[in-house]
Amino acid sequence: MRLLLVEDDPLLGDGLRAGLRQHGYTVDWLRDAASAEAALASEHYALMVLDLGLPDRSGLTVLKQLRQRGDDLPVLILTARDTVEDRIRGLDSGGDDYLLKPFDLDELAARLRALLRRHSGRADNTIQHGELALNPVAHAVTLAGRPVELPPREYAVLQLLLENSGRVMSRSRLEESLYSWDGEVESNAIEVYIHHLRKKLGSDLIRTIRGVGYIIDTLS
Ligand code: CA
Repeated sequence: MRLLLVEDDPLLGDGLRAGLRQHGYTVDWLRDAASAEAALASEHYALMVLDLGLPDRSGLTVLKQLRQRGDDLPVLILTARDTVEDRIRGLDSGGDDYLLKPFDLDELAARLRALLRRHSGRADNTIQHGELALNPVAHAVTLAGRPVELPPREYAVLQLLLENSGRVMSRSRLEESLYSWDGEVESNAIEVYIHHLRKKLGSDLIRTIRGVGYIIDTLS
């Protein structure tokens, strides 16, 4: 799952990127408002973690612009400013949640999961599809109650398809969710992951829409 981290502090940013990667996110880390706005205009993210004190302008302007475009990307605000007014301003500008520095990485990760859950309208964390279940908290997949071991990238492909069931995901959309900008994209990687997923989960789960992408159909 691809996450945009906007944080100008090099130590904190580096620590957050490493920590969030361990929690299974693909992290794009940017350090100022201008690059964040450019990235938001051209890339797909599942989440944004946004520092308010950025070198060029306040993170609040990034947030306001995003909401003015009608984008409902879940946003968690990070700030060192500890006044009630600042918190209210952050939430009123379209922030979904709020953490004061310093904070605990596990708490951040838990809040991000809660944001994703609320955003997708799920009451609990598990995505159920027939006999297949995916639990993002445990990073676990089961088929008819039996655990299925998936490498991180196969897991990420499956998660994106399941979260968007009924919608075709293009190959580039799937690739985007897997790699940060510094990552390598092998040309047939997605086909390979899909092939493995079909072998492990059944050949009829993921349908190929020729020339467009892949889809997991919603169950009627
Ligand atoms: Ca800052």
